[in-house]
Amino acid sequence: MTAAPTGTGSPAATSEFLALDEHYSAHNYHPLPVVIREASGSWVTDVDGIRYLDFLAGYSALNFGHRHPDLVAAAIDQLNRVTLTSRAFHHDQFGSFCRELAELTGTEMVLPMNSGAEAVESAIKVARKWAYQVKGVPEDGAEIIVAGSNFHGRTTTIVSFSTDQEARADFGPFTPGFTAVAYGDASAVEAAITGRTAAVLVEPIQGEAGVVVPPDGYLRELRRLCDDNGVLLIADEIQSGLGRTGELLATAHDGVRADLYTLGKALGGGLLPVSAVVGRRDVLGVLRPGEHGSTFGGNPLACAVGRAVVRLLATGEFQRRSRELGAHLHARLGELVGAGVSEVRGRGLWAGVDIAEGGPTGRAASLALAERGVLCKQTQDSTLRIAPPLVISTEELDTGIDALAEVLRLG
Ligand SMILES: *Cc1c(COP(=O)(O)O)cnc(C)c1O
Repeated sequence: MTAAPTGTGSPAATSEFLALDEHYSAHNYHPLPVVIREASGSWVTDVDGIRYLDFLAGYSALNFGHRHPDLVAAAIDQLNRVTLTSRAFHHDQFGSFCRELAELTGTEMVLPMNSGAEAVESAIKVARKWAYQVKGVPEDGAEIIVAGSNFHGRTTTIVSFSTDQEARADFGPFTPGFTAVAYGDASAVEAAITGRTAAVLVEPIQGEAGVVVPPDGYLRELRRLCDDNGVLLIADEIQSGLGRTGELLATAHDGVRADLYTLGKALGGGLLPVSAVVGRRDVLGVLRPGEHGSTFGGNPLACAVGRAVVRLLATGEFQRRSRELGAHLHARLGELVGAGVSEVRGRGLWAGVDIAEGGPTGRAASLALAERGVLCKQTQDSTLRIAPPLVISTEELDTGIDALAEVLRLG
């Protein structure tokens, strides 16, 4: 056995860490060969002392940047008091977190969980129970309509309704009760609705699929179909929510309210996993003691950090930054169409950049960007997902876009 690598500033450090990860960790990811040691705001530093601009922000878990001082202060304060009680007892952060998150999102009730996938699982359970108890769907008959190319997490039930073969292969048998129809096609949803439909579950913008913005009117039409048919609309805002698109919730761009929202990623401020289902009292209210739970969900540390996240979002500053910086980002990316880029999609400080045919693969482009000091990652084979922390400056943003332009122009 060799000693654990501790080096910094030595060219050997990165390769030692990579070898360790390669040997001892399950190979369920294919990260870029950058080993991060510390980070602040929009910047990270690796074990060789090289600095990189973060253009991914932990898939939007780091909307407030790395170690935002307000969030770190809230965490330290709570670390010095109490961190875990289990839900066997009450604690003094819980009710306030739920109330403040409900007020921020304009909802009535909050179910705190940890990971995004758990929030989605919880929303599915709640929608099914609502269908049996309130709508009167016969036992075990509830159906949930989802969109093709969705991404809602990695549990066995969630991959059961994924349309991505890589996410599903060899993980069956799958959970029944889901119908997938093409994203962006409201008439396909209409055709799939039956008397047993409990919910339509949809991402307002599909992040993992390549930051795909649905056609104008799609979400409004889903809202109308759900209202007309007594079906719940569940918006998965785990990636699109909490400021990323320039609004608190991406559904707001279309003036649409969902019955349930799943939140996660940025809700933990990049410090720890915090997720939640938020929504209508008459829907979340179907849960009774003993029917659902989580040892860590709604723990004091998570609630204290979540409250600090809510305070940051309540100022509106991050939504405004996303709108303004996003307008700049999209104006500049638009100029790259025809110069190594075939299409750009997105909203606010969030973009899917399709690399033109004949250009580098998404991975090769990500590696070339890392060599120029900018970290982002492909989603799908030839799309780069650009999602910088919302604290980034215009100058920093331009630095990253310049590098991107160079990489894609050189092909
Ligand atoms: C990331 C993500 C999830 C899953 O969240 P985890 O915390 O990774 O379980 C679910 N839905 C969407 C839209 C996401 O982006």
